[in-house]
Amino acid sequence: MSRRVIIDCRDFPNEIGCTLLISGNKKEVLNAAVRHAVEEHGHQDTPELKRQIKSLMKNEKEIIHKKTKKGNKK
Ligand SMILES: [Zn+2]
Repeated sequence: MSRRVIIDCRDFPNEIGCTLLISGNKKEVLNAAVRHAVEEHGHQDTPELKRQIKSLMKNEKEIIHKKTKKGNKK
């Protein structure tokens, strides 16, 4: 079972006030986040961007644990 990670745009330096949350496995999140950052945030698709995105990835479980526990299983 692959663990899901999340990227929260609110953690990302952005001037557009984006609040998007992307979750999935690492590869999916990285791909989606790069595309999103380029298209919506106007970033350049560079190794630096990927590095930054990876550093902002969080374990989905940790986040859910921090917030109020919801038994929201799908
Ligand atoms: Zn965004």
